[in-house]
Amino acid sequence: MDFKELVKFFEEMGEKKFRATQVYAWMMHGAQSFDRMTDLPAGLRARLEEMQDAGLISLNLAMISNVQISKSDGTRKYLLMLNDGNFVECVFMKYKYGNSVCISSQVGCRMGCAFCASTIGGKLRNLSAGEMLEEVLVIARDTGEPVSHIVVMGTGEPFDNYENLARFLRTVHDEKGLNIGMRNITVSTCGVVPGIEAFTVDFPSAGLAVSLHAPSNEIRDRLLPINKRYPLEVLLPACRTYTEHTGRRITFEYALIDGVNDSFSHAKALARLLHSHVGKLCHVNLIPLNKVSESAFSGSGRRHATAFCEILEKHGIPATVRRELGADIDAACGQLRMKTMEQKK
Ligand code: SAH
Repeated sequence: MDFKELVKFFEEMGEKKFRATQVYAWMMHGAQSFDRMTDLPAGLRARLEEMQDAGLISLNLAMISNVQISKSDGTRKYLLMLNDGNFVECVFMKYKYGNSVCISSQVGCRMGCAFCASTIGGKLRNLSAGEMLEEVLVIARDTGEPVSHIVVMGTGEPFDNYENLARFLRTVHDEKGLNIGMRNITVSTCGVVPGIEAFTVDFPSAGLAVSLHAPSNEIRDRLLPINKRYPLEVLLPACRTYTEHTGRRITFEYALIDGVNDSFSHAKALARLLHSHVGKLCHVNLIPLNKVSESAFSGSGRRHATAFCEILEKHGIPATVRRELGADIDAACGQLRMKTMEQKK
């Protein structure tokens, strides 16, 4: 429930409106039982517990099934079990500027990207806004650390679950909610153009990342099936509109795949493409592909990635090779969930 719904809920119970303010604040602190809500009268707490026992309401939408902690940088990868037994992954990362949580938006994914572990079993279902929020709350509670940044870059295609995503973002941003600035939130899409268009209008202050991964339709068609529906000549103008409307830089993610999209002529073609279709307000985030055992693709070497990056920069396109966090744990998309599903088979 968002705050308004919670107000209605208490009104319908015949309770005072301000109970919603109290309970909402507890919820946003990740409270796991009504019993602990010490500023509520005992009778009300008992009524709420009873409703929870009857399955009518719930404070807990997920529990931690596994945590992997990177020894090198403190990155924590969580596998959460949802109430219906499905699993999702989320990650906690420490940066100089704050703590960032990467969340999943769906159980599985139906986008079918050729190099991605998240899509292998297809999409099982969307996550609700509450479940996305729960990913953040569980991590905040488990680490005891404040969360200042959120990236929607875990399993799933957020723009294939737009309504729930929007509801989640509003709650995260709401000052009664987690009070996280829109500027500290980034959503990543494989290129669902109607979603990009809606997001530009609905969340002009939030960050947008687009998984580009190729300098031409020919290569992108092979890697991201969504490209057949929204090819570069449709995708890139939508990206440009985002930058023009919001004044914000757009991030392009580019996974460097050995022998597929990582030659120096690909780098030059990418620079030309971005110059002509997007303009200056962009940034290319390069990452050597993480090896997924089910796929034949492998990542380019780090030195090659740096050379690719230098070519982009020389051609006026800001680019960085992403620092890899959590390399010693299964921190790439979908890998931990896949492993667990295999073990359960
Ligand atoms: N569906 C969204 C968000 C989830 S994926 C999207 O496609 O953007 C987050 C990012 O990880 C995307 O850029 C995706 O292409 C990338 N990715 C997936 N598998 C990867 C792998 N094995 N190595 C490197 N990046 C990968």
